[in-house]
Amino acid sequence: MKKISIIISCYNEEESLPLFYEEMNKIMKKMKNEFELIFVNDGSKDNTLEIIKELSKKDTRVRFVSFSRNFGKEAAMLAGLDYSIGDYVTLMDADLQDPPKMLPEMLRYIEEENYDCVGTRRVTRKGEPPIRSFFARMFYKIINKMSKVEMVDGARDYRLMTRQMVNSILECREYNRYSKGLWSFVGYKTKWLEFENVERVAGETKWSFWKLFKYAIEGIVAFTTVPLTIAAFLGILLCVIAFLFIIIIISKTLIWGDPVDGWPSLACIIIFVSGIQLFFMGIFGEYLSKTYLESKKRPIYIVKETEKTKK
Ligand code: UDP
Ligand code: MG
Repeated sequence: MKKISIIISCYNEEESLPLFYEEMNKIMKKMKNEFELIFVNDGSKDNTLEIIKELSKKDTRVRFVSFSRNFGKEAAMLAGLDYSIGDYVTLMDADLQDPPKMLPEMLRYIEEENYDCVGTRRVTRKGEPPIRSFFARMFYKIINKMSKVEMVDGARDYRLMTRQMVNSILECREYNRYSKGLWSFVGYKTKWLEFENVERVAGETKWSFWKLFKYAIEGIVAFTTVPLTIAAFLGILLCVIAFLFIIIIISKTLIWGDPVDGWPSLACIIIFVSGIQLFFMGIFGEYLSKTYLESKKRPIYIVKETEKTKK
């Protein structure tokens, strides 16, 4: 019987963890597979770690990895994948927004229909602020135009993968991780299952609008260099326009003499062009900073404690 690893990244999830475990347990009872539950404690400030330790005492299938501080969900997912030993691996949120009851169906697609991966996507964004949904949609439109790697709108990190696919993902050791892109980057045959958005059972979302915005930029910088190309093209375009202007101005001066005018428009042009320059310098900076962070080769996460460390 194949073993399924379930990775749950947790950051301040003391309220949802017991509910999650209960729900997950029901599903595990129904399925014949062997399981391991890997809880990754991403530097929680509440009792999350204590709750996980309790669970691991009464259930041998429960394992845990606890970070020395909050490293973010991407790092937590990576740690889970690193520590997992199952033949199939799935990633879930602790707040039951990724319904565990979909697991048997996901497994069926992999075992019977030869898929390497079954991903899930929300078809509704019910319960989410409309402005956030709007920006999310925009983001997917833009990034899919720019990047060769396809990003699926509404795709969650909740997915069941074969060991082979997990190993491919583990080969990508970049510091600035953007999993939504990495899943498509490694390829493999993926089946998408759709479900209606579920609101979290307890606790609060950890993603502010600003955090999501930064995450979106991360995705763009990590998976496309199109903004750099745009900068170069715009530069050329402005040069051509400037050249045309020079010809027009020289002709005008030769034909009609040189009345001193056009200063206000000149000021506007200078401000406009320097604005564009600063904007693109910012974009270069974004790429440079990511390269800088990448070149330091710092660890992506630091583990303080696992179920094996005696304490
Ligand atoms: N999470 C994490 N580290 C963080 C932020 C979030 O491990 O720094 C976990 C969190 O505990 C949850 C999952 O990532 O299990 C998704 O977070 P959340 O539900 O807050 O995001 P949302 O579903 O609102 O997008
Ligand atoms: Mg959630």
